[in-house]
Amino acid sequence: MARYDLLLQGGMIYDPCAGVLETGDIAVKDGVIAARGKALAADAETVMDVHDCIISPGLIDMHCHVFPRFPYPHGDSLRTTNAEEHMFRCGVTTAVDAGTCGWRNFGDFKEHVIDATKLRVLAFIDIAAKGMHYTASEQSVSDINPGIAAAVAREFSDIVVGVKSAHYWAKPEDAAHPTWASIDGAREAAQLCRKLVMVDSIPIAGERPYPEILARLAPGDVHTHVFAQQFPLMDAEGKMQPYMLEQRARGVRFDVGHGSGSFWFRQAVGCFEQGFWPDTISTDLHHQNVTGPAIDLLYVASKFLAMGMPLTDVLYRVTRAPALVLRHPELGTLETGACADIAVLRRREGPFGFMDCGGARLTGDGKLECVATLRAGEVVFDPEARSMPDWRSAPEAYWKAPGLLRGWTLWK
Ligand SMILES: [Zn+2]
Repeated sequence: MARYDLLLQGGMIYDPCAGVLETGDIAVKDGVIAARGKALAADAETVMDVHDCIISPGLIDMHCHVFPRFPYPHGDSLRTTNAEEHMFRCGVTTAVDAGTCGWRNFGDFKEHVIDATKLRVLAFIDIAAKGMHYTASEQSVSDINPGIAAAVAREFSDIVVGVKSAHYWAKPEDAAHPTWASIDGAREAAQLCRKLVMVDSIPIAGERPYPEILARLAPGDVHTHVFAQQFPLMDAEGKMQPYMLEQRARGVRFDVGHGSGSFWFRQAVGCFEQGFWPDTISTDLHHQNVTGPAIDLLYVASKFLAMGMPLTDVLYRVTRAPALVLRHPELGTLETGACADIAVLRRREGPFGFMDCGGARLTGDGKLECVATLRAGEVVFDPEARSMPDWRSAPEAYWKAPGLLRGWTLWK
């Protein structure tokens, strides 16, 4: 019997804790990382040659949308993506649904999506009872119930990482629609269940100014969509606003949450050049941006590579950084004993162009692509067939390819 189930041989291992890339092997046994080092014994059921690849902890997309509503809605709710179809193919092993679901339908989400996929799915529960499935719910003050939201978050505390406030429009002329109801409701719920808040809120001059949105967050809370054009991150001369630095120092986290309209190079590059880098990189992936401009987490991460961010800093923001922000330190690591969630990546040399939400291009000299993905030690994406035997020597009844047909025994 082989010592290991699988051996990744000869890659550049990215260690997010040390912040370095170094050559080595990783061995997997029973779903966890069994050993890591140089020239491990090739005593494994499956040996994958990854000498030309980067071995990274499985990526964490901490803002995406994977809870579908059927029949498909027409304009009155967020159309989401299929978790497995869109995540494994870009190295993501943990998807964090950012508020598609409120407390009223969280049981459905767990039963029909979270428990039905091999992907690890965590979630911010929306402060609106019906989440983003019904836009009316997001505007309804009577649907904001911090006590119930917190109770559901506690009930599913291994899945729920925090509370989301989003899409609540300010209506200063309407006394029954208080400007801060959604953000304050989310913060109250988060306080009750001892979790964090993720906020996605459009500032309104005079009514809901951006500095005050940030000031209402607690240390550890997250502002997503940071590089959307509506946020006054810089002054008229393009200089970073002091409150951005003050809020970061206070512990507020800034997440990319790219989306369909929330990432502009003129915002991102301006901040980047002044040393204001996002804490975490995420897609806000949903039906309307999966073919552009977000596409997937590696495409969004590659935009930062193209801006000049070093590779290890880019990888940190899609692995270890989100794990720590989400208070799941067991994720985003390749330490021995950790769950074997692994992304095997390749850096291709360019030039390559990248789009933003304003239809503008930035050209960089490289991009990341996914060669293979392991989830809890299982190969779930392997388009180059590196985990498979050559067809000439493969047994006739051999059938363990990753993909939609895995597990079928029809032709054995
Ligand atoms: Zn979103």
